[in-house]
Amino acid sequence: MPLAKPSLMIRVRRVVAKGSGRGSIHHHRGDGDPKLYKPTDVVRLTGIYEVLHDREHRESHDVVMHARDLFPACDTCDMRVRFRLVRTAPYIFDDEDFEHQE
Ligand SMILES: [Zn+2]
Repeated sequence: MPLAKPSLMIRVRRVVAKGSGRGSIHHHRGDGDPKLYKPTDVVRLTGIYEVLHDREHRESHDVVMHARDLFPACDTCDMRVRFRLVRTAPYIFDDEDFEHQE
């Protein structure tokens, strides 16, 4: 009779030990999208974006982008500029408690 159960337990324990090490922790977070956006991409979420310029001709800086706009090209690094979502922050007039005010 093969000793299937003990060997299975050892395998499981080894997988758990491996997974608890450093590595996959950052992949679990669902909110912050680490994706970089490029000029002509459509802004999907209004919020604060970090602008990353090519060859750091300018230090990265934060801007507000509005949903459904297009990410613009930089005057200097043109299409090589990248945008990274820092934090979503809905535009006040997109908020349901404010959108119907005149
Ligand atoms: Zn630039």
